[in-house]
Amino acid sequence: MRNVQVVGRFAPSPTGPLHLGSLVAAVGSWLFARRESGRWLVRMEDLDRPRVIAGSAQEILEALRRYGLEWDGEVVRQSQRLSFYEEALATLRRKGLVFDCACSRAELQRAASAPAAADPVDQERVYPGTCRRGLPPGRMPRAVRFRAPSGIIAFDDMIVGHVEEDVSVRTGDFVVKRADGVFAYQLAVVVDDAAQGVTEVIRGGDLLDSTARQIALQRVLDVPTPRYGHLPLVMAPDGSKLGKRDGALPLPSLDSRRVAETLAAALKILGVDLEPNDPRSMLDEALKCFDPRNVPKVPQVASV
Ligand code: GLU
Repeated sequence: MRNVQVVGRFAPSPTGPLHLGSLVAAVGSWLFARRESGRWLVRMEDLDRPRVIAGSAQEILEALRRYGLEWDGEVVRQSQRLSFYEEALATLRRKGLVFDCACSRAELQRAASAPAAADPVDQERVYPGTCRRGLPPGRMPRAVRFRAPSGIIAFDDMIVGHVEEDVSVRTGDFVVKRADGVFAYQLAVVVDDAAQGVTEVIRGGDLLDSTARQIALQRVLDVPTPRYGHLPLVMAPDGSKLGKRDGALPLPSLDSRRVAETLAAALKILGVDLEPNDPRSMLDEALKCFDPRNVPKVPQVASV
């Protein structure tokens, strides 16, 4: 028995209704935390104003309730926490670990380099270092970038196993404040996981290659590194990545039979085979037989 209380979290972006992939992240993080009688928090990652959809946060919370997932404490909204990100950025500046960057997306795309990640959501390319030693004459600052440390960052993922990444090779200096003034996910997530005392981050496999960047930031901001576990990606039956557009989850107003079937599908992806039933009793049952070793390491196909 560890003597530190486990704190897990689910951190959806309110950019559309939950889909099966996000339900798997919600249920997976809930199971990991609750199996150790830990706390389970919900944080709305609503910084990216242009992508936030009105009403979506409320819809997500209603869906979680409908699936029997109860969180602890107040829901934290990133849009209410800008001063904390500002403070972290000021710390990084004081330490000389960030710089202003004038490069536009088009300029970076022209600078021949491979996309940083295979995941089309993570479009950040390996930064060629253009503004690292100061803005070129006559150029205006746009984004703020973190000086990527060179050297391997390693961690033991609770699901995937040992992972190593050299951020300076994989992405290079990455954005912590975007050209439109929005704090980047990488910075906000590190500040918030630390502020909320999160000990365990269980989330979708699409974020596996963000983890080394987050650990790099944790080290320089002097905050603890939580344990990480990355759940299998959920693919649409045609093999494409399940996007929020697919609307693969029934909305809260739809019938309870479909809710139970969808929950059974999410649990199956997490290695728990249960008949559809009342969500609360399914989750209680799942807690008894959930074993992280049964969570598959490879992408799963959505079956609802
Ligand atoms: N907000 C992110 C998303 O919806 C998840 C962030 C995280 O779990 O670290 O993809």
